[in-house]
Amino acid sequence: MSKAIQAVRGMNDMLPDAVQRWQRIEAIARDVLHAYGYREIRLPIIEKSELFARSIGSLTDIVEKEMYSFEDRSGENLTLRPEGTAGCVRAGIENGFLHNQIQRLWYAGPMFRHERPQKGRYRQFHQIGVEAFGIESADLDAELIMMCARLWTALGLDGLTLQLNSLGTLESRAVYRRELLRYLETQRDRLDEDSLRRLDKNPLRILDSKNPDMQKVIAAAPSLYDHLDEASREHFTRLGDYLRQAGIPFAVNPRLVRGLDYYTRTVFEWTTERLGAQSTVCAGGRYDGLVEQLGGKAAPAAGFALGMERLAELMAQQANQYSDAQPQAYLVLLGEVAEKQGLALAERLRDAGLRIECNCGGGSLKAQLKRADRSCAHYALLLGEEETRNGSVTVKDLRGSEAQSQVAQNALTDFLKQRTGRGEKS
Ligand code: ATP
Ligand code: MG
Repeated sequence: MSKAIQAVRGMNDMLPDAVQRWQRIEAIARDVLHAYGYREIRLPIIEKSELFARSIGSLTDIVEKEMYSFEDRSGENLTLRPEGTAGCVRAGIENGFLHNQIQRLWYAGPMFRHERPQKGRYRQFHQIGVEAFGIESADLDAELIMMCARLWTALGLDGLTLQLNSLGTLESRAVYRRELLRYLETQRDRLDEDSLRRLDKNPLRILDSKNPDMQKVIAAAPSLYDHLDEASREHFTRLGDYLRQAGIPFAVNPRLVRGLDYYTRTVFEWTTERLGAQSTVCAGGRYDGLVEQLGGKAAPAAGFALGMERLAELMAQQANQYSDAQPQAYLVLLGEVAEKQGLALAERLRDAGLRIECNCGGGSLKAQLKRADRSCAHYALLLGEEETRNGSVTVKDLRGSEAQSQVAQNALTDFLKQRTGRGEKS
């Protein structure tokens, strides 16, 4: 036998059980997003490499060392998207739906970064991204954050904390940059290689360094927050007021700069202590300059992206067990007549809106019940010779302790709906 080929490092298969959990999260997220008037947009996974260099910034980790870039057969330099905002802005400019318009958009899908794979950090990972264009005021920043908070509640999650900072405008950042540079020059011999390289072109990036040896230098650096321009300071104060009014606690973290260059004013992260080192579940902020930077007419914008793998892991640890992606019943078919009638009965139940897994390919009672159990269905419905004669099924509770009972086939829909609800929670 020749050696089997394995998946690419850092890229994972997702088996049906995991898919069920993800679909649950996606469905809830979709409902929450729609409740705020956000609409889905679907974008290409491959973009021109230049798009990311021009938006994320050429001296960021992502562009410097994490992108999957390649030349296609016609010699064009392309990249598997490492994030969604750049492509969304590109699409907005190209389709003309940004200028003088308010757009609330979301998307979901795979992103690619050549990072060192570890728990919560993969080379293909998935985000739900949200972008809002055309609103400059802090009420929008608050709306985005409130939407996140509502999502955590809807998912049954707690223990997520919100960190906030303001990066000011590009101008106020330029003033701060000079100050920071002066400080960093005095620390030159303590800077690591990456930081030295960034010193001249993009010293703010140094604040985002993950190197533990750098943390002391970073902690003593002048604070960006002290250099905010008046308007940004007011924007930030307003955001704080809205959040307090909404009862959403937050902590101001003056070192929060985020790994992408395009942010202005508000940046935020939702973190948890339950996931170890990869603790940021959701991150975002305002990027008022990006549309213009990418060649469009200036339009204010803000957004965030949440990491599905980290969220799913958190759900697995924490949240209630849901079952609406699982069958409500598994139909066990015993004998030839039952096998003949079974498929049609399953169809009738599905017509009534129920999720039914039907045994296919025969098997003993024991074997079929084993499959029923593995399907995670709430009930097994046994259709044998006797049941086919009297138009009933024998109902066996696979999850609880209800006594076995006979239910008429034409009463089954009501029976299952009553007991398994819409299937939201079992
Ligand atoms: P980190 O600091 O963890 O590298 P980031 O600042 O690079 O995150 P963003 O680009 O803001 O992350 O992406 C938003 C979210 O997407 C992150 O908060 C995280 O939940 C998720 N994410 C980012 N990179 C990865 C990855 N390689 N694997 C899994 N999830 C990721
Ligand atoms: Mg990163």
